[in-house]
Amino acid sequence: MSADLTRVLVTEEQIQTRLGELARAIETDYDGQDLLLVGVLRGAVMVMADLARSLDRHVQMDWMAISSYGSGTTSSGVVRILKDLDTDISGRHVLVVEDIIDTGLTLSWLVSNLSSRGPASVEICTLLRKPDAQQMSVQVRYVGFDIPDEFVVGYGLDHAERYRNLRCVGTLAAGMYS
Ligand code: IMP
Repeated sequence: MSADLTRVLVTEEQIQTRLGELARAIETDYDGQDLLLVGVLRGAVMVMADLARSLDRHVQMDWMAISSYGSGTTSSGVVRILKDLDTDISGRHVLVVEDIIDTGLTLSWLVSNLSSRGPASVEICTLLRKPDAQQMSVQVRYVGFDIPDEFVVGYGLDHAERYRNLRCVGTLAAGMYS
């Protein structure tokens, strides 16, 4: 599977080091406050697992599934809740954990949806951010890596549901898109 990559953009070691740094910042910023991590299925599974285990404090975790890309490589712009939270977030500090922000369409919608439920705060943590996301109206508090505008797979990110189980993040060889 790893032989299908043309280039590794972020290695396993870089990911783990950076998640540790983000975890230290989160511990400081939320010191003395409760914290609910909301993972966005399915891509954020790996980030959530490793970020949560890097945190030396109590956290709760919940999950949402929303539609984003189909099996293609461009944003559909259509957002739909496939699985909602099991947790009542009113009065809670919510940190949305994402794998990647591309256009930001998905997250903008998600943040306004969560904000309407009366939380104490809603912030975003993403492992990867593409250049277009800079134009987003929503502020992203924690960013792992800014990457070029290329389609990437691995560490939770898929192409047609494959490559999520790669430990690194990389670009696919052209022939792998068919
Ligand atoms: P956005 O709404 O354009 O920001 O897209 C966000 C979602 O699209 C992410 O949560 C991913 O599921 C998916 N996505 C965006 N870019 C990539 C990529 O390079 N590889 C795999 N999935 C991506």
